[in-house]
This record gives sequence, C-alpha cells and structure tokens, in this order.
Amino acid sequence: MPKPTITHTICGYCSTGCGLSIHQLETGEMKIRPRAGYPVNNGSLCPKGAKLFEPFMAPDRAVSPMRRENDGSMTSLSWDESLEEMCTRFKQIIHDHGPEAVAFLSTGQITTEEFALLGALTKYGMGILDGDGNTRQCMASSVVAYKQAFGFDAPPYCYADFEESDLIILVGSNMAITQPIMWRRTRKNSHNSKIITIDPRASQTATKSDVHYQIKPKTDLFLFYGIARRLIVKGWVDDDFVQNNTKGFTEFAQFVRDFNLEMVSVETGLSVPEIKELTRLIHEHKRVSFWWAMGINQSYQGVRGGQSLINLALMTGNIGRPGTGANSVTGQCNAMGSRLFSNLSNMYGGRDFTNPKQRAELAKILDIDEKLIPTRPSKPYNQIVESIADGTIKGLWVIATNPASSWINQSDFLATLKKLDYLVVQDMYTTTATAKYADLILPAAGSAEKTGTFINSERRIGVLNSPISPPGLALSDFDIFLKIADKWGCADLLKKWQTPAAVFEILKETSRGTVCDISGIRDYAMLDAENGIQWPYPENNPDTTKQRRLFADKTFYHDDGKARFCFAPVAPVPEPTDAMWPLWLLTGRGTIFHWHTRTKTGKIEAFNRQYSKQPYILIHPDDATKYGVEQEKMITVVSRHGRGRFQAKWSETMAPGQIFISMHYQVTNQLTGPYFDPLSFQPSYKATAVRIEKE
Ligand code: SF4
Repeated sequence: MPKPTITHTICGYCSTGCGLSIHQLETGEMKIRPRAGYPVNNGSLCPKGAKLFEPFMAPDRAVSPMRRENDGSMTSLSWDESLEEMCTRFKQIIHDHGPEAVAFLSTGQITTEEFALLGALTKYGMGILDGDGNTRQCMASSVVAYKQAFGFDAPPYCYADFEESDLIILVGSNMAITQPIMWRRTRKNSHNSKIITIDPRASQTATKSDVHYQIKPKTDLFLFYGIARRLIVKGWVDDDFVQNNTKGFTEFAQFVRDFNLEMVSVETGLSVPEIKELTRLIHEHKRVSFWWAMGINQSYQGVRGGQSLINLALMTGNIGRPGTGANSVTGQCNAMGSRLFSNLSNMYGGRDFTNPKQRAELAKILDIDEKLIPTRPSKPYNQIVESIADGTIKGLWVIATNPASSWINQSDFLATLKKLDYLVVQDMYTTTATAKYADLILPAAGSAEKTGTFINSERRIGVLNSPISPPGLALSDFDIFLKIADKWGCADLLKKWQTPAAVFEILKETSRGTVCDISGIRDYAMLDAENGIQWPYPENNPDTTKQRRLFADKTFYHDDGKARFCFAPVAPVPEPTDAMWPLWLLTGRGTIFHWHTRTKTGKIEAFNRQYSKQPYILIHPDDATKYGVEQEKMITVVSRHGRGRFQAKWSETMAPGQIFISMHYQVTNQLTGPYFDPLSFQPSYKATAVRIEKE
C-alpha cells in the first residue's frame, strides 16, 4: 500500500497550539492526526482540531473579491479591480480627513509573519496610525499585568508545569472545554495534584475539579487580597524570595491589612473556613501553579485581577520552579504572536513607540526612515470604535475577525458600523455577521492553506505548512497585504518582506537582544525538526531543553531584576444589580465544539447537532420559579443596553441570582455594556445586570 504524503502543521483554533500531521492519500483523501512526539499535545487532539478541514470546504467560502452595489447585491471583481477601489477609497478618506480617518481591526488568527507585514504595510507604507486586534478582547489585561509586574509581557510557564504541579489553581477558566488538551495534561500529573477551580459557575471544569470555590461574580480581588493577608498573618511568606527578588512588598502588606477574613467572606460568598482552607493548601503545597483566563481578563479590573495572582505566586516563591507560576492562558491560536510582533500596541520585539532610542534602533534594523515610525501606539479597539461613532474614523478594514458578533455592547456597535463611509472585510467567508455590512469583501485563506508561524500560550513557535490550497481567487492574508502594498504604491518599502520566511528573518533581527530574542532559530526547517521552539531562543542559546519556563534564575525584566507587587483598591462594579436589574449575566464558552462566533465551527454539522442552535440561558431552578420561567420555554433577557430572546434551561450549575449565556450567539452581546479595564482597555464581558421578561 502506498505511503501517504505527510504534512506537519498547527491547529488554527485555540492557543494550545497542537501539532497536526496531515496524511494525504493517493486518492486525495486527507486524514488529520495528532503529530507524533509534538510536546504540546502528545498524541491527542480535541474535536475542533480533528475536523480542521471541514469548514474550509463550506459553500460560503469567499472565492473572489466582491463589491456591494447600491441595491445591496454583491458583484465579483478581480483582485486588480477590488484593490484599486479599496486603495482609492482609503486614500481619498485620508486626503480629506487625515491619517486618523482610516483604521483596521485585526485578529489573533493569522500568522506572526502576516501580523508583522500588516504592521509594516499600514504604519510605514499606508500611513495608517490606528489598528488593533481582537486579541484586545481576550488577553490585553494579562499583557499589562505582566509588563508591570515582570517588566515584560512574559507568560512564564511551559505546559509541563501542568504535570509538575502539586496544586493547580484555575481561576475564571473553563479549561476542560476551552483548552481541552491543556486540561488533559492536568490529569496526567504524577504528583497526585489537587485541582482547585475558582469560578462563580459550576462549569464543566469546576465540576471535574477536586474542589470548586463558587465565588460571587467579580469578587476575585477580594479573595486574593484576603489570601495574601492571611499568608502574611500566618507567617507563610517566602521571605528570602520576597526580599531578594521583588519590590513593593511592604506597601502591599500594608494595603491588604483591610482584607480580613470576615470582610472577604461577605464579599465573595465563601465561608471563613473555606478561605482559611484555600490559604492553607497554598502554603502546604510545594509546587503551586496559578492559572487564569477570561474570567479574570475580561473585567473592568482585569489587570489587577491577574496581578493579584502574580502577587500570590511571588510571595510564596511559586515561580521559576517546575509546577509553579502565575500563568495566563491565552485564547486564540496566535494571540501570543500578535502580542510581540504585530507593531500595534508596541513595536516589534516588545519595543515602545514612545521611546526615541527604541524607534531609532528599529528604524536601523528595518533600514527605513525613522520618520515613518509613529511616535505613539495605535488606539486600542474601544477607542477605534468610539472614533467611528464620533465620525473621526470613516474607513475601516476588518481582517479575520467578526466584531458584529463578538464586540461588546452590540446595540451601539451595529449602529456605529453603519456610520462608516467604507468598510472592507477580509475573511474566509462571505456570510459573517460583519461581512454583511461590508462594502468590499477580500477572500482570504485559512490556517491550513498557508505558511508561517504561530506562537502558543507557552511561548512555543510552531510552523504551519499548507497541505491544501485556498479556493478560487482566495489568497493568504500575507499575499493580500503584498498586493495592497503594490496597489498603494509602497511596495518598495517592503522589498525585503516578500515571503513569510523572509519576514521571519526580519523578526529574528528585530528580536535580537530583546527579552523575546529568537535569533537562534535558524529557519522554519529547524522549527519543524525541533517540534516548535519556545522563546527566548537567542543565538548560541545555552538552554536547548524542549520545555522551558522563565525566571528559573529569579531574575525579572525590570532594570533591577526584581518583580513588582502591583495592586489597587477594589473598584465598584460599573453596573450593580438592583430591584430593576436583579440578575447577573455571565458569558463564556458553552461547548468544546464551538469556537467563538462559530464562523468556522458553525459549518460542521456534527458539531451543530451537539449544541443548541437556539440561543439559551442557564438559570438556577429557584430563580426560574421566582421569575416564572418554564423549562425550555422562550423568555426575553433585558439589560440596560439591549434585549434578546432565549430558551430557558434550568441548571443547578448556576448560583441563584446569576444566569449564563454562551458567547457563541450574536444576540449575547446585545446585552453586554461598554465597560473596559482602564489600563488594558479589555472589554468587561462577564458581569452585566439583567432582568427576565416572560413572553
Ligand atoms: S486543543 Fe486547541 S489547538 Fe488543540 S486541537 Fe483543540 S482547538 Fe486545536
């Protein structure tokens, strides 16, 4: 029997970054297998990765550029016609209203080389100042938390820490369905680890954990400041580590004095014995790892939430050793690439736009005129949306994301989209909620149809190879950006950026000497042969082990080498519940099968059969009785921002006073409101005051 052709690539959904082996038979049939020996997924895949190709074959793939006509119909265009129109329209807007009048919204779904090229094209070539990624929606709070605490955006862990911990504390993370392969690794732990989940909801993860602490929504800061206080009171602080490797502990200890057990118990809803027990467990275990996700990040105080866990890791010396760490789990497949190399919030390699020395350094590396480099970072996503609303931004380019479903406060956002003079959507599909508003659609390839790299949550750079080609006229985002450069008239600037491999070489140079130095990675072949490589990996890297964590030498990235304790008073909830709005709405992932707005996974019939097409709420039976909500009947949920119809499902996984709606429905964000973390500008999706109206 002839041997299949085997191509190695990376799954294009979540930040786990599983390695795939695509087996192509002579008949053309393709089978997806977990890549043998890949240190991320070690022979496992979740259902989404196993069906990676199915959405690529969907009938609503964008197969040619399309223009919306006055009557609403779409006309197919050539690439030349479409990009002539796009460039003419954007240039006219910039000519009439200035460079701040055009912006873009990008994604954590494209390759690092594509982000990097987009960042160079827009900022140096097109003169566009503002662009942001949907990564703002998932991990911006962690970025700021790490920068302030460690001196660089540096998630410190490797996945082996799941197996090395003796106490795993998951906060605001439904890992069993959001990152199922990571979850599987927690179960392969040989240290007889205890898994604790802290979450307002008895989620799929909480119910599978050893202990579930069911706190009230948005009270995590009270809990972690309270635990810090109790660790201090009991003398359970790693004094050597704190003294030698951190700054700000004295002030922190003073600050947490108010967070006594009784107050924390009242605020969190946990009993005093529960808080004592949790603190004791942290003290008694030798390898404690703290993991957080969107329940922390997507908050009006998300940065401080992440830092409250970093503080606990620092004060107990649980960092830099196997099985420890203050570990933010990122969402999308390449959010980590975006964090370092998209040239939006910071310049390549984590450099600062506002630092003249770093701008000059980058200009020299890139061999461009320093004047081309903006002196400020891009506006964050929420400010881009505000600028559309107030008429400052008139042209928008949306790349591989679906804000008409995912952005917070949809009622206002959809009206805002209509204010644009010109909207370009670059996507795999013509039918996304956002594409319906587009004046022009550019057909893009999916992850299995292109080459480049992704960086996963443990900082591992994995290489994508393309086992299949995009359909029709669709192109990789990389090739679309090059065509736009050509049409805009700035191709000369990008002469060295002509292939993903060439851009990878540029990124190596921009990273040289920085915290995320990857100059020691020879090329894609080396990445492939090594099963991915974690950054940092400088030239002559002394540490070539396959699973590396940061801070083993207890040296952090601030100039003095010390980590910082960061904290702030607990802010009030922007929208408290009251007699009119008596219930908390919690949002989150609803199933292992679907990804975000279901742009891709919604094409997989087997997955759709596993999950309700009808938007639904979970409500505690006591609340259902109280508000006269019948099982499976339709009800209306109303917030101060909008309303939506949902099927009611009674569930004891909910605490009384709270309802849950999954993020997979467009209607969900009709209810959420415009609240953001003041430091990271990440939207606060997790606690909206609502009421139920019977139909
Ligand atoms: S866990 Fe994430 S990366 Fe791995 S197969 Fe599933 S969706 Fe893909």
